[in-house]
Amino acid sequence: MKKFTFRQLVLGCTCLLASQVSLASTANERPNILVILTDDMGYADVGFNGSPDIRTPNLDQLAAEGTMMTSAYNAHPFCGPSRAGIMTGRYPHKFGSQFNLPTSDRSGGLGIPTSEIFISEVLQDAGYHTGAIGKWHLGEDGDFHPNNRGFDDFYGFLNGGHDYFPSKFKAQYEKQRKQGLNHSIFHYLRPLEHNGKEVDVNEYLTDALSGQAVNFIEASAKDKKQPFFLYLAYNAPHSPMQAKEEDMAQFPEIKDKKRKIYAGMVYAVDRGVKEIVQTLKDTGQYDNTLIVFFSDNGGKPNLGANNYPLKGRKGSVLEGGYRTPMFFHWPKKIPNGKTFTFPISTLDLYPTFAKIAGAEIPKKKKLDGKNLIPSLVAGTDPRPGEMIYAVRHRNGYSEAAARKDNWKIVNVSGKWQLFDVEKDSSESNDLSKEYPLVVREMVAEMEMWSWSNTQPSWFHNHAEGALWREKAMPRFHETFSLKEKAANELNVH
Ligand code: CA
Repeated sequence: MKKFTFRQLVLGCTCLLASQVSLASTANERPNILVILTDDMGYADVGFNGSPDIRTPNLDQLAAEGTMMTSAYNAHPFCGPSRAGIMTGRYPHKFGSQFNLPTSDRSGGLGIPTSEIFISEVLQDAGYHTGAIGKWHLGEDGDFHPNNRGFDDFYGFLNGGHDYFPSKFKAQYEKQRKQGLNHSIFHYLRPLEHNGKEVDVNEYLTDALSGQAVNFIEASAKDKKQPFFLYLAYNAPHSPMQAKEEDMAQFPEIKDKKRKIYAGMVYAVDRGVKEIVQTLKDTGQYDNTLIVFFSDNGGKPNLGANNYPLKGRKGSVLEGGYRTPMFFHWPKKIPNGKTFTFPISTLDLYPTFAKIAGAEIPKKKKLDGKNLIPSLVAGTDPRPGEMIYAVRHRNGYSEAAARKDNWKIVNVSGKWQLFDVEKDSSESNDLSKEYPLVVREMVAEMEMWSWSNTQPSWFHNHAEGALWREKAMPRFHETFSLKEKAANELNVH
């Protein structure tokens, strides 16, 4: 499965030579980097971010001993493009990845363009032992497979989701396979893989992913003698909504059935985090590991999520769609017990990780984020006066939003609104009439940014693509017009 590009071979040889002389001395100095990602988790669905009912004691302890971010934004309000942003450090609209990959078999052979060097490649080239566990969703075949995108080790599933109980998904898969359905079997039921080879999973999926993370961390400490980069992408609490009875039993006070299942799914992640933290401690790596936790987009209240106090949900450019709970934990390097309120983006992770790893970013690589460490340490704004963007294309129109300092402009129904989200995170008090110049300037700046967006390289399904062409999307001349347009003209569903 694994194949190397010429660039990797050249860099690999260089690194090998360098590693013989330097890795032994630098392994203990360069930090490990552990990303713990959840999927479709709401803003109020972890204890440290104000959940009234879901307890996440292990995540909360890490957040309390690290720096918690209250204004962290994803690059996109749904899965695939958000993850493309994490890996590339660029807005997915800049390289045609603003939609989820097709659900057709193995994503139709498509994936995030290989011209976008992933952070995993940069860290691998710098001598890190790299692992991805869980959900991928960035392309499945050949060059797009995680093993060919900078990950030494991949354990998980390549598409956008998976069922949780092996006893059920294995039985359904076998039944359909015997019926000769091979290629049309729903991908949520298919076997997981480890570096291209099918694996047999016998645990609740979240536990299997946590267990693999423990294995990876132990192996890194014992055998690899390199710092590690682990991208642990739980699919919880993404649908299908399936929780263990014992996890749901932790929440006897939750009466709503959906919320109880959801809470159980989040609790399973938190149990896994406990094991992972213990493994880091047992292997002497806890103090030298940066842990970053967040969700790839907002929650879906109809499935039990809670985005309070934010408006909107997964898919929306209202705050609830793409503002995520987040913390950084790194003893003695990142402030302990601090809350960081300045706006940041998950696009900032790429340059931040490269910097702390001492890794070289290829000169031609374009990035939209910033190294956050100096700002986190000093408690200062990493991008005063600069914008963080969100664009979500819908059927025949585009939702758009931009955050700058305390301000946010947002257009979800043909009308630009302005909120002081520092004071009004629930986007309740539209100030566009009081500050028309702020609106005008921010909309103009965002329109300029949009000029370098590209046409999508794929659509999630045929109907989405057909409508895009029929409506001559993205219709940015309408999106960035300050003239109000009626909702019925926008084909709002
Ligand atoms: Ca998601």
